[in-house]
Amino acid sequence: LEEQIRRSDRLKTIGQIAAGTAHEIRNPLTAIKGFMQLLNKALTDRSMSKEQKFVGIVLSELERVNELVSEFLLLSKPKEIKRVPLRIGQVLQEILPMIRNEALMYNVTVLYYPKPELLPILADKELLKQVFLNLGKNAIEAMVGGGTLIIRECSHPDEPNKIAVEICDTGTGIEADVLEKVFDPFFTTKSQGTGLGLSVCQRIVHDLGGSIEVSSDVEGTQFTVCLSYASGELEQELKASGGERSPDD
Ligand code: ADP
Ligand code: MG
Repeated sequence: LEEQIRRSDRLKTIGQIAAGTAHEIRNPLTAIKGFMQLLNKALTDRSMSKEQKFVGIVLSELERVNELVSEFLLLSKPKEIKRVPLRIGQVLQEILPMIRNEALMYNVTVLYYPKPELLPILADKELLKQVFLNLGKNAIEAMVGGGTLIIRECSHPDEPNKIAVEICDTGTGIEADVLEKVFDPFFTTKSQGTGLGLSVCQRIVHDLGGSIEVSSDVEGTQFTVCLSYASGELEQELKASGGERSPDD
């Protein structure tokens, strides 16, 4: 047991160092990106297209490092979660333009089925956006050559105090042996993947008291995110903030 405690302490320390390092990588990265963008503009003005191509590559690789560091930070040192009343539709509406944009490049059709009568949930909007962006991106990346991405809001079939959001794709599907590992940090089957997207999603959803599940077959994959209304908490929150429920709540 003592050995186990030592081991877990050591892992915690390593985690803290890694998170600190990731944070420190961020600052120079931002500076590099800024100057690269300036360089890019200068090259455009001088019509130096070959050099511009090089800078373009540097910028897109920088974007990859940036993404990795952001996901790593989210995973190792979760921000304090601010839970405020919000509608799931609001969260999805805000990320849809980004999803549709990505879908366009992959020849993917996006179908969104909102359910406006769903009650508000208590959650952190930015974190939830991250969850559905990651799920949407994965779904699109699984549909090389095109397909359909369906985003559906529903009430939970069995639990009346929960909502569910389904993200379905008509992509490659996930083999059973891979399916077990998709939520593992750094697990990826993509040459350019970080393998952190789904572990970040899982972490956030669990921190919000929800659940995330996956099912897959040869026709495609479905991720389901469930979150509670937490209506009692919501009433309290609204009372504390002096707010009132509007008639349509
Ligand atoms: P990354 O996208 O960087 O590979 P993720 O954690 O987001 O990391 O996903 C891990 C792995 O799970 C992916 O590499 C892929 O093999 C699998 N996966 C996730 N979502 C899907 C999906 N919608 N369809 C098929 N495979 C998926
Ligand atoms: Mg991903």
